[in-house]
Amino acid sequence: MEKVIGIDLGTTNSCVAIVENGTPTVISNRGGYKTTPSMIAVTEAGKRLVGHIAKRQAITNAENTVSAAKRLIGRKWTSPQVKNTVATSSYRIVEGPHQDVRIALREKDYSVPEISAMVLQEMKVIAEDYLGQPVTKAVITVPAYFNDNQRQATKDAGEIAGLEVIRIINEPTAAALSYGFGRPVEKTVAVYDFGGGTFDISILEIAPNGVFKVIATAGDTFLGGEDVDARVVDWLVQGFKAEHDIDLRQDRMALQRLKDAAEKAKCELSGTVETEINLPFIISSGRSEALHLQRALSRATLEELTLDLVERTIDICRQTLEDARLAKDEIEEVLLVGGMTRMPKVQESVQGFFEREPSKGVHPDEVVALGAAIQASALVDEKHDMILLDVTPHALGIMTFGSYFEELIPQNTTVPTNRQKIFTTSRDNQTAVKILVMQGEHEKAEDTDVLGEFILTGLRRAAKGQVEIEVTFEINADGIVSVRAKDLETALEQSIQVTATSGLTRDEIKQMMDNAKDDLVDRRVSEEFEGFRQEAQKLSADIERLLPQVEQIVASSDFGRDAIDKARSMLAKTQQAVERKDAAALKEQLEALARTQRMFKGVVAKTH
Ligand code: AMP
Repeated sequence: MEKVIGIDLGTTNSCVAIVENGTPTVISNRGGYKTTPSMIAVTEAGKRLVGHIAKRQAITNAENTVSAAKRLIGRKWTSPQVKNTVATSSYRIVEGPHQDVRIALREKDYSVPEISAMVLQEMKVIAEDYLGQPVTKAVITVPAYFNDNQRQATKDAGEIAGLEVIRIINEPTAAALSYGFGRPVEKTVAVYDFGGGTFDISILEIAPNGVFKVIATAGDTFLGGEDVDARVVDWLVQGFKAEHDIDLRQDRMALQRLKDAAEKAKCELSGTVETEINLPFIISSGRSEALHLQRALSRATLEELTLDLVERTIDICRQTLEDARLAKDEIEEVLLVGGMTRMPKVQESVQGFFEREPSKGVHPDEVVALGAAIQASALVDEKHDMILLDVTPHALGIMTFGSYFEELIPQNTTVPTNRQKIFTTSRDNQTAVKILVMQGEHEKAEDTDVLGEFILTGLRRAAKGQVEIEVTFEINADGIVSVRAKDLETALEQSIQVTATSGLTRDEIKQMMDNAKDDLVDRRVSEEFEGFRQEAQKLSADIERLLPQVEQIVASSDFGRDAIDKARSMLAKTQQAVERKDAAALKEQLEALARTQRMFKGVVAKTH
């Protein structure tokens, strides 16, 4: 049976896992690492790099290296979060054709799902290499507080990467699945998930019969390690400006170096109380003297710079606990998920708030992917020994007269669900009503996200308030929302299935899928060639090293001269195939090269 993988598509790092013989396992990438940086780059030669190799060249190719694309996924060009990222990013972010966001790399603009698809494709390849078979299906995790547009954009990214996304699940829920998997636990747990870009808190009840029920969830999709790093960057930039009157932000390479150094210092300060940030030649171009940046950062200063960010997470925890109608002492276990939970101040604040020591039983970087793999396996094996009941992270409703948001399905409602409400016309002789489907927690419609719209026409003419329209919202197990509007007197009905939008059209997604497929084929071919080239060059070097000795032996014995001629022609052919980048010809040479190398070794060994 085809394996379905679980992918944690993180802001900073991504991780892929599967369930093998009943055991959830993280798959290491080729470098042996269990997580892969969610970074991509395009080199000057137009080559695409993903993961560690993209990260390694980020400083020298800052403008064409993308990190933290997840902060932009499913957002509109006009959103404040996009504006914030545009101002602080070392790569260029531009407006797309549908008010969406594009990232300009070299000569091309890429949509955000396309960038995320490159990371997903890498995770797919890691799994395929490990399993030795194609992988076409995945469960992908998203922050619990993602709205429907962000979820849809993540689904589109999966599709572009050649993956059928059989379910999108929430990251903290996945963590709880992994924690409770195969254990007879009966507990109310809080999952505090603080990652590179987002913060989530979910409170769940785990029952020993394999029922995982989310009671409440909340978060902030623009609050993570990136913001902590940005505070350190600000501190460094301001210090440098005060000393030299130079704004380091104007230099993309300097900015990327600052970001790197800030993250490194932050991580170091989880294990030590003071660290040195040392960036020689931070600005050199166009100046008579080179300037260096050197500053000591203490854990206390880092905590001071970022206190409000940590406090924001605690405020959200407080609110979520209230929403769940639970007291602190009813939380029996606190799970820490996400790399940022390694920061001592975060651990201390969580412990202080929940008044209990957080559990050390889960791996903060791997637990989400493991949970996704568990859900994937449960979906394909159709084993119903696990039931997952999640909630809607945001309220759903419609826009009413005066541009107000009228809620139909409250936040934290268990899905699947359906709710109805009766509305009346707001004008005399109104024959049509526009139903604007919205998602959010704000009273004014302009602050919420529009998910879709439709018009119910043919209403009977009557004074305002006389025509009654029943609006029904339904959310199925996959989180798909459908909305129906019915004129109660005439029974006239209109409905839509609300498909959130990533900002891409179907045609664009199809085109991006084809491009991604072509890129993968190109990459596979060039990797295959590289493998052959390395092997052929190793054998050729061996043969060249042995040749003078073999020639001496030939001169003094009856060993065939033609073997030496053949070897020389073989070496020349190999070199030509390398220059032509001809993988097939190179492969053909490999066996002959190996045979010759063995023969030469044997001859030399015999005569010594
Ligand atoms: P995640 O999204 O879960 O991969 O978390 C990534 C975030 O965790 C990044 O912002 C990292 O810089 C941060 N992180 C990783 N390790 C540490 C550490 N030891 N101390 C503080 N932050 C860390």
